[in-house]
Amino acid sequence: MSRIAYVNGRYVAHADAAVHVEDRGFQFADGVYEVCEVRQGLIIDLTRHMDRLDRSLRELRMTAPMARTSLTLVIREVLRRNRVRNGIFYLQVTRGTARRDHFFPAAGTTPTLVVTAKNTDPAAMARKYASGIKVITVPENRWDRVDIKTVGLLPNVLAKQQAREAGAQDAIYIDRNGIVMEGASSNVWIVAADGTLLTRPAEHGILRGVTRTTLLDVVARLRLSVAEREFTMDDLLSAREVFFTSATGSCVPIVEVDGKTIANGHPGSASAAIRDAFLDVAEKTPIW
Ligand code: PMP
Repeated sequence: MSRIAYVNGRYVAHADAAVHVEDRGFQFADGVYEVCEVRQGLIIDLTRHMDRLDRSLRELRMTAPMARTSLTLVIREVLRRNRVRNGIFYLQVTRGTARRDHFFPAAGTTPTLVVTAKNTDPAAMARKYASGIKVITVPENRWDRVDIKTVGLLPNVLAKQQAREAGAQDAIYIDRNGIVMEGASSNVWIVAADGTLLTRPAEHGILRGVTRTTLLDVVARLRLSVAEREFTMDDLLSAREVFFTSATGSCVPIVEVDGKTIANGHPGSASAAIRDAFLDVAEKTPIW
């Protein structure tokens, strides 16, 4: 079956899907995006992803490409046409196409909208959950507005590639004071030595992950002790458990950081319990 993408009003073959060379996403990374999980034919946490998209657009003074109800119809149509049951959709909005100039284009320039979707392999995810992953730490080197989900991901790309070349799967940003920020495409959680679940506040310095927000609902349901509090590299290394959250990975255990083993080197029970309870708590929107 051939993949289908939505580009500016049309459903086209994925292989032919393209935007203009002067699209501001291509020229300036002047765009925002969302990635949302689909599980068992259900879109996970659609409202929170759409709320964050609206916020990203607002913060950058970009125009929404269409009303939310219409956008939801496009998303569901792309998922249907690609027969996605377990996978993701990807949505990108840019400030549109205009003659290259740093200043914003004329008011009324049509924003670009692209939506793609793909199936992912649940068995590959299950293997990650069973074995856990290795990560490296990297110094925080991103701009000050990582709370906006922009397509300007070059530092994240370099961090991930550095991880791969070091024999690890992912990277965690650490600021100059040794405070743990977030992963290159995920939020970081620990079960601290005293048993409290910690994730850093999301007011500034990280992206407020939708999965992170829903996980706070999950841990409340499970009555686990939790705090939104900064923690250090030392706290991370002495933690009982470390894990990542993201829409693509749900809740992924981390068993090694910079070559140092976390706890006994095996995924912990808290991340597993949270993962099990996640689908019950999350918002679920049927595709069909
Ligand atoms: N932080 C960063 C830098 C990310 O790229 C992502 C994933 N898009 C997240 C956190 C997790 O966000 P979410 O749970 O909404 O996928």
